[in-house]
Parts: sequence; C-alpha cells; structure tokens
Amino acid sequence: MPRFLKSPVPAAQVSAARADVAERVHAILDDIRERGDDAVRQYSEKFDGWSPDSFRLSPDAIERIISDVPGTVLDDIRFVQKQVRTFAQAQRDSMRDVEIETLPGVHLGHRHVPVAGAGAYVPGGRYPLTASAHMTIVTAKVAGVPRVAACTPPIRGEIPAATVAAMHLAGADEIYLLGGVQAVAALALGTETIGRVPMIAGPGNAYVAEAKRQLFGEVGIDLFAGPTEILVIADEHADPFVVAVDLLSQAEHGPDSPAVLVTTSEALGREVAEHIERLLPGMPTKDFAGPAWRDHGEIVVADTLDEAFEIADSYASEHVEVLTENPRQALDKMHDYGALFLGEGTCVSYGDKVIGTNHVLPTRGAARYTGGLWVGKYLKTVTYQEVTDTSSSALLGEVCGRAARVELFEGHARSGDVRAAKYGKGTLPW
Ligand code: NAD
Repeated sequence: MPRFLKSPVPAAQVSAARADVAERVHAILDDIRERGDDAVRQYSEKFDGWSPDSFRLSPDAIERIISDVPGTVLDDIRFVQKQVRTFAQAQRDSMRDVEIETLPGVHLGHRHVPVAGAGAYVPGGRYPLTASAHMTIVTAKVAGVPRVAACTPPIRGEIPAATVAAMHLAGADEIYLLGGVQAVAALALGTETIGRVPMIAGPGNAYVAEAKRQLFGEVGIDLFAGPTEILVIADEHADPFVVAVDLLSQAEHGPDSPAVLVTTSEALGREVAEHIERLLPGMPTKDFAGPAWRDHGEIVVADTLDEAFEIADSYASEHVEVLTENPRQALDKMHDYGALFLGEGTCVSYGDKVIGTNHVLPTRGAARYTGGLWVGKYLKTVTYQEVTDTSSSALLGEVCGRAARVELFEGHARSGDVRAAKYGKGTLPW
C-alpha cells in the first residue's frame, strides 16, 4: 500500500479554482465574440497594461527588436531550433502516405495534409517562454503550414526581445504582442485586424488552456497544455539532491504546478523533503515554487518499483523523470505520461529548453488520451478512393445496395444499384 509522506491540498479546492477560471474565461470569450478588437484591446489593457497602436509587429519593428538581442542568445536560439527541427523532421519523414489495392482496381489511400494556418501561442505572463516559440512554430513549419500567426504577451510592460527573435527565426509569418484569453480568442474567432486560423497550438496558464478548451470545435487545438506538472520516480539509487532540484525546477513554473515524487525508498523521500525545504528559501523564483510545493507537492512511498510505475501511470503526469537503476524499464511498464526522461543524464529542463523533443505536453490527465505536440498535430490525415475496375465496382454496388437497405437508406442503396446494373449483370430493382 502506498503511503504519503507529503499530501497535496484537497481535490475539492482544486476543482473550485478550475470552475472559477472556466466562468471568467467564458465571460471574456462572449465579450470578444461580440465586440472584436475593442474587447481584445480592453482585456490586453486590463491584464497586461498593454495597448499599442497595433498588436502586430511590423518587419521594421521585428528587426529593431532583434538587433538588441545579444549574439550568444541568438546563437543558442539557432542551436535549439536546429535540435527541434531535426527531431520534428524525422517524425515527419516517418509519416508515410498510404495507397493500397484492396480488390482488383480498388485503390484506397490516405495523405497527410497540413492545416492552412496555425496560431502559435507562446506564454509570457511570468517568464518569457522563448522555447515555446521553437516548439510551436518550427514544428508547424516542418509540417508545411503556410501561415503561422504567433502571439506572446508583453512581460510586465516590456517586449520579450528574445522571444520575438525566436518567433522570427522559427519562421512565424505574423507576430502579435498579445497574450492570454484575448490572444487565443482573436486567433480562433478572428477580429477586424487579426485573421482567424484553423487551429491553435501552444501551452499556457490556466486561463489560456481553458480558452483553448472552450473554443475547441470552432477552432482546432493541439491538446490541453496547461500549468506544468512533474513526477519523479526514484529508487534507492537516485541522488536525493538531484531529485529535489528537479522537482523545484518545475514547481517554479507557477503556484498551480504539481511536483510529485514516487519512491520505493522512504529514506530517500525524507532526504528529498529536507533538501527542498533547505533550497526553497534561496530560490529567486520561490514565490512560485514555494506555494506550488506547499499546495501541490507530494511524496508517495511505494512498496515495489512495479507499484511505483502503476502509481505514476495513475497521475498521467506531463513529465516523468525516471531516476532508478534501470530507467528504460519505464518504456515497457508505463503507459500514461506526456514525456519520459530516462536516467540522471537528462532532465525535464533539457526537454523544456534544449534537447529537441517537444515541450508542449498534456496536463491535468490529458496524457491518458494524447501525447504532446508534434508535427502530426498540424497535419490532417485525409483519405481518398478510386475504383478503376468495372467488375469490382459492380460487386461493391451489389453489396452497397443490400447493406444500405439494412439501414433503411434507400438513396444510398440506389447509388450502389446504378453501378451494379451499369457495370454488372444486374438490373435496376426500382
Ligand atoms: P501565459 O502567457 O500563459 O499567460 C499570461 C496571460 O494570462 C496574460 O497575458 C494575461 O492576459 C492572462 N491573465 C493573467 N491573469 C488573468 C486573469 N485573472 N484573468 C484572465 N486572464 C489573465 O503565461 P504564464 O502566466 O506565465 O503561464 C505560462 C504557463 O504555461 C505556466 O503555467 C506553465 O506551467 C505553462 N506551460 C505549460 C507547458 C505545457 O506543455 N503544458 C509548457 C510550458 C509552459
């Protein structure tokens, strides 16, 4: 039986907070639907203190902003974008179009067609999340999306220059300094100045994720990618200091970010808790990491490693670090997670910032039904069919006539009858 060395706040408290966010987002979406740009501007002023003449950056403005970004920052952006592009391209190359012949002259196929346009949301409320530009825009471009409209909010009134550089270098076709629900709504619904897109990708805080969720249907979304989560599986071989540092690395995302340790070693669990209490006060980001650990931090002790994997699966966490003697076991043992980080040589921060797998990942249990953002999310898998052999068409026509009449679809049946009669020996029964 698993035992909790540290428990989170009660689930009821978490769902009340979510209900409140859902209500606020609904009201903002209604208003933007009604009043377009005027409402977008009003919310940008209210939440971000930001109301420029135009939210869209001109090519000149982009060039000016990038000229202030240090060369090393630009070099690192190029390095990381190359890693993201290489992996995304390999994923794209693995997606083959299909065409087979199921009966003589019956050709069935599918093709992967990019969406005509995508909105890329790059978060920027608490931190300028430059890396989200690589993840959303580079990947869309590898998929072949012709129009990528990218949005990011100003951060405390300042233009996030490195993020703008990353958006531009990634290949964004339009860049808007606009954030939150208002950015997602403008992209999804379209306004007088912002053209709507068929789908929106990218992570965000609880408001951004909820806006995407509520707009789904009117616009496509990549996945539910809200406040970050980390879960670490550790056995007695893990280094408790590294475990503590890695748990805090994700807790600093915000006060609503869960950080969970599942361990087979109670002694390690206690050591990790001590390290965290010692490290937290000195963290420059303690105002986010502290409440996150206090309210959403957990330490669970499992009897066996198999039980630890089962517990971890039940959380369906966005990120799972496996710090055990044989971390690759997790590939066979685990099923529900956004991304696995196998062994101490890597960590969630590598995934977030540099290594090349996509960091836009499912949260709040969405890993039970989806993986993270990847090139395939920007592609529609569409089918086609052709029958070039008349006797096969006649055969299909006969079966279609019978099958459709079982369902009482006389019109459908007649389309089959016509071909059966024209290409085969049958006569029209009506
Ligand atoms: P953000 O860009 O997501 O949100 C900032 C916006 O929130 C602001 O522009 C503002 O308009 C809006 N906002 C703030 N308070 C509001 C309120 N009371 N009502 C309505 N709107 C309000 O940036 P952030 O806040 O820093 O959050 C980034 C989030 O992205 C973090 O929670 C982080 O964990 C998450 N994230 C998730 C993933 C993932 O893949 N799941 C990846 C990276 C980051």
